[in-house]
Amino acid sequence: MTAETISRCSGCRSRDEKHKGLLIVVSGPSGTGKSSLIKTLCEINEDLYLSVSVTTRSPRKNETEGVSYFFRTKSEFDHMLEKGEILEWDLYCGNYYGTPAAYVEEMVCSNKDVLLEITVKGAESVKKRYPDSVLVFILPPSMKALENRIRGRGTESPEVIAGRIGKSRDEMSRITDFDYVVINDDLKEAAEKINYIISAEKLRVARNNGIIEKIQMEDKKV
Ligand code: ADP
Ligand code: 5GP
Repeated sequence: MTAETISRCSGCRSRDEKHKGLLIVVSGPSGTGKSSLIKTLCEINEDLYLSVSVTTRSPRKNETEGVSYFFRTKSEFDHMLEKGEILEWDLYCGNYYGTPAAYVEEMVCSNKDVLLEITVKGAESVKKRYPDSVLVFILPPSMKALENRIRGRGTESPEVIAGRIGKSRDEMSRITDFDYVVINDDLKEAAEKINYIISAEKLRVARNNGIIEKIQMEDKKV
């Protein structure tokens, strides 16, 4: 699938028409609290649609197929890639992760606000394809807190934890590619901050050309 077909699906009437649905990308190091934040954010704002990713990683004890992820083999993942069904993907600490294209296209083109929780590299790919997507980087209150959280979660082996902590340094260095930063100290406050970002982004002049023109036209008729 080309960038052209991703940025303009059948639900959009013309090439120039801007998508009205927001594409919000939440990213940051493992253990920083992205999944917890997204869960709280979706409770605060029920109008958000979370994209469920495909992964070749094994499910954790508390994870459900089709809710946490679509768990697939490497050859199934490759097949999806070949068929152009993946919008962006990344190889993260030995496992493949990808965003199914169809869901995001359908939601964004139906004016729905879609959330992606993906790696920093994945976020950068989305920004290239959807320049008006909104990238939010989640920081832990400190590196020590990050380490404690990832260890405290108890879902990975010590080797995998070490790999993820090592990876976080490279991820942090790419924060300047992002639009916003939110420090996840108090979970609810941090989720509310992401919701403020969403509200502010929806008020951008560039996202409201239709209503602005409509009001200006009414003025001419008076
Ligand atoms: P990520 O999705 O970024 O890998 P998780 O959401 O799985 O991170 O969170 C990692 C661990 O940190 C979990 O055990 C979670 O309960 C905990 N956690 C998340 N946010 C906070 C917070 N604000 N304060 C304390 N612990 C948190
Ligand atoms: P985890 O194994 O902890 O669930 O996820 C590891 C990393 O993969 C996290 O940073 C998570 O945000 C990211 N991730 C999950 N789904 C996707 C995806 O579809 N694409 C990319 N690029 N990263 C993803």
